[in-house]
Amino acid sequence: MIERNPGFAHLTAGYLFPEVARRRREYVAAHPDAPIISLGIGNTTEPLSAHIAKAMADYALALATPEGYSGYGDDFGSERLRQKIADVFYKGMADGSEVFISDGAKCDIARLQTLFGGKMRIAVQDPAYPVYVDGSVVVGAAGAGKPDGSGYEGVTYLPCTPQNHFFPDLSAIAPNTLIYFCSPNNPTGATATREELTRLVDFANENGCIIIYDAAYAAFIRDPSLPRTIFAVPGARTCAIEVNSFSKPAGFTGVRLGWSVVPKDLRFSDGTPVNKDWGRAMTTLFNGASNIAQAGGLAALDEQGLRDMKASVDYYLENGALIKKTLDGDNFRKAGVVAHFTGNGPYVWAQFPGMTSWGVFDLILDKCHVVTTPGSGFGPAGESFVRFSSFGHRADVEEACRRLARLELR
Ligand SMILES: *Cc1c(COP(=O)(O)O)cnc(C)c1O
Repeated sequence: MIERNPGFAHLTAGYLFPEVARRRREYVAAHPDAPIISLGIGNTTEPLSAHIAKAMADYALALATPEGYSGYGDDFGSERLRQKIADVFYKGMADGSEVFISDGAKCDIARLQTLFGGKMRIAVQDPAYPVYVDGSVVVGAAGAGKPDGSGYEGVTYLPCTPQNHFFPDLSAIAPNTLIYFCSPNNPTGATATREELTRLVDFANENGCIIIYDAAYAAFIRDPSLPRTIFAVPGARTCAIEVNSFSKPAGFTGVRLGWSVVPKDLRFSDGTPVNKDWGRAMTTLFNGASNIAQAGGLAALDEQGLRDMKASVDYYLENGALIKKTLDGDNFRKAGVVAHFTGNGPYVWAQFPGMTSWGVFDLILDKCHVVTTPGSGFGPAGESFVRFSSFGHRADVEEACRRLARLELR
């Protein structure tokens, strides 16, 4: 018989979100009338912009005509879209030939892991979005789980806590390590400053590290002093890859469209440009993003589309501010709860001293019928935190806030 990939056997305790869904199902089975509101999974809820949807509908209808039909497109994405992304987001910091269009940031992160393989050392922010570690586990780079269940032997966890303003101590990272870094961060919402990103880039260049910079929430940055791309930092072109996505700002979570920027100046130890192997990976393991989705991406980046994306992000940020205000209420404050919300990301990251994350999750589900995400699921340093997502309809968020405001904590 064929041996199981040990990477899958090493994946611990199921993926976080299925476990959240399981507990929710169990609760609903026991309390069928509970009016559950989810502030849990980071999934978009608001309709697409009519302008962007129309561009996709027009493209799809044209596919039924001889003039409008097209089959496989370029493996790296449409030239126009690559150029447009370079013009709108990178303005000379990266060019269109360094932009690779994909079916989303998560899929790119998984494909990037094939580029580096199982011998890689990896470092992650702790807490972090699960695919950095779990994807590394699958390719064998993370090693086995620690006996106490607190992570993997082969992963350097970089605690990001209120004490260090959610920016890690880089000196814990060994030379030649692949560093995953997400800003604005999921789950903490923390957004690295220019000074912090400069330290990260300098560290990577001095120590032979490569940074995989997840900028999926860059569009949520409202503070003009904060960089929206790692390439705004001098030196990033020799040490960083950026992944990004239309999912969160344009509501493309189901449409599926993202991109990666792999600068030509980035090289492996043998001198091979990483860009060359990434092109090969995209050709070999991928066959190009949906042409309909790419038509939507182009529309999202014209004047109207950019306005619509901003309005959508503003809506979610306003939700976040409502949640933050609720968690600053007397009932939470008296229990020592501290809620972190930067206004530059869609998440509120709240610490409940003396409680476990799953304990808080169960309490809020039971007393408020509100689903959150337990912070411990994002890494050991997330223990005692829960994440509140600002993705939701306004009326639901307001109702969730009313219930939370009545929650009795000791
Ligand atoms: C949602 C999310 C993504 C996923 O992006 P897709 O483009 O939908 O695959 C990537 N990174 C982070 C941190 C996310 O929260």
